[in-house]
Amino acid sequence: MFEQRIQKWEKTDEEGRYVLYKMQASVRFEHNLALIYAVEEANRLNLPLRVLYTLYTDFPDANKRHFQFLCEGLMDFACKAAKEGYEFRIEVNPSEARLAHYLNHAVLIVLDKGYLRIERKWLDDMLYSSNKTIVQVEDNLLVPVQTASDKMEWAARTFRPKVMQHFDDFIGDIQYIRPDELVNKIGFTLGKIDDLLEYFLEKYHGEELPAVAIRGGETLGMERWKEFLATKFKTYAEDRNDPSLHGSSGISPYLHFGQVSPLQLLKEMYVFLYEQEDKEAYEHSKEVLIEQLIVRRELAHNFIWYNPLYDNYEGLPAWCKDTLDKHGRDERPYIYELNQLEAAETHDPYWNRAMQEMITTGTMENTMRMYWGKKIMEWTSGMQEAYRRMLYLNNKYFLDGRDANSYTGVGWCFGLHDRPWGERAVFGTVRYMNADGLKRKYEIDAY
Ligand SMILES: Cc1cc2nc3c(=O)[nH]c(=O)nc-3n(C[C@H](O)[C@H](O)[C@H](O)COP(=O)(O)OP(=O)(O)OC[C@H]3O[C@@H](n4cnc5c(N)ncnc54)[C@H](O)[C@@H]3O)c2cc1C
Repeated sequence: MFEQRIQKWEKTDEEGRYVLYKMQASVRFEHNLALIYAVEEANRLNLPLRVLYTLYTDFPDANKRHFQFLCEGLMDFACKAAKEGYEFRIEVNPSEARLAHYLNHAVLIVLDKGYLRIERKWLDDMLYSSNKTIVQVEDNLLVPVQTASDKMEWAARTFRPKVMQHFDDFIGDIQYIRPDELVNKIGFTLGKIDDLLEYFLEKYHGEELPAVAIRGGETLGMERWKEFLATKFKTYAEDRNDPSLHGSSGISPYLHFGQVSPLQLLKEMYVFLYEQEDKEAYEHSKEVLIEQLIVRRELAHNFIWYNPLYDNYEGLPAWCKDTLDKHGRDERPYIYELNQLEAAETHDPYWNRAMQEMITTGTMENTMRMYWGKKIMEWTSGMQEAYRRMLYLNNKYFLDGRDANSYTGVGWCFGLHDRPWGERAVFGTVRYMNADGLKRKYEIDAY
């Protein structure tokens, strides 16, 4: 189904010296379908390939933590590109003229696909300003967003049958692993890229945020995934919700930066299962993992693709805003300022632990993300302000922040993709969570 991932805008200017792959959302060498397409075209036209990455220091909400992870991924790609003889360039804050220089000398421009507002604007700008044929290859979802559904979905229950009916058709794409060998090879010096990334991090992003232990890049991402399959996958279905067990994969930052793709992860999962003698012992975990990695993650992309207000309280479903409004003046048990939250100084040790985890590691277990968000709602005097705080903290500290899953996860706390529950103070009919639930269900004191 490779061809269903491709969108092409034919233009008239066919002069040029190379095929340009403007890499943005898929910073990886393997299972990069845009790169595979670009190499095939370069070979067919008997031209070299140029890969370009543009780094913008004003990318919304990005900070040193994110740029560090991104640069590690770029360096990993640069090493692989050097071996294959691709010319790889990174441009920091290129002017319009500089970017036009790259585009104007290309015969063909190949892109990967991003879903955020800014990424869609980049494409629109390029379509408007360039006379070259542009091909976009969508390879960070199993099922292309518009194939899965042509509208914004209500919930996983409405989206699941739609996306899963295409599963068997698109799973065949896991066979596209590596690009062909490039015929017209050109070398480049890795040292230049190394210096540039160091300069970039020094000059633009000196602000203090605790350094996190997780390092970026496709190689480390795939190592982490294989380690997960070997050590945690069998019990994933049971363990993933218990914060004290750390039973999930930790792959989300790599997915966010396009350093791994869901196709690559599924392929490794099937290879792993093929080698196991007790395959049926993995069956339940396999189903739960596909539910998260495909249904829930691609539902999040459906949300940001079809909802122009995906990062705004006003973009939440009407029933959520109505019920929260109705309870807007209810007395809150505690009220905290943003700086108290950010300093993890509340009365609740579980919440403080979650906030500290977020600050020091750049991540948090799924159950604690839900609890963390619900408590921000409960301890802030207005829901619009609670929404802003949650998104701010989410996108500042999480390595996987600023993702389709960020906007959907935060929205979920306010009722998005959920259903009404019993009515209660502050939350109205939006689902509520409390520490007793954590204690009842999990070994939360071990967290
Ligand atoms: C308030 C809140 C904020 C969140 N913010 C983010 C965020 O900024 N970035 C982010 O990637 N996720 C976010 N999530 C979703 C989810 O918590 C994380 O994707 C998950 O915890 C990542 O850990 P993992 O990679 O170990 O997941 P695993 O359990 O190993 O799952 C594998 C992959 O499946 C997908 N996935 C898992 N759970 C969910 C889910 N509930 N919804 C959608 N996709 C899922 C992710 O891509 C994940 O990497 C948020 C959830 C909530 C409730």
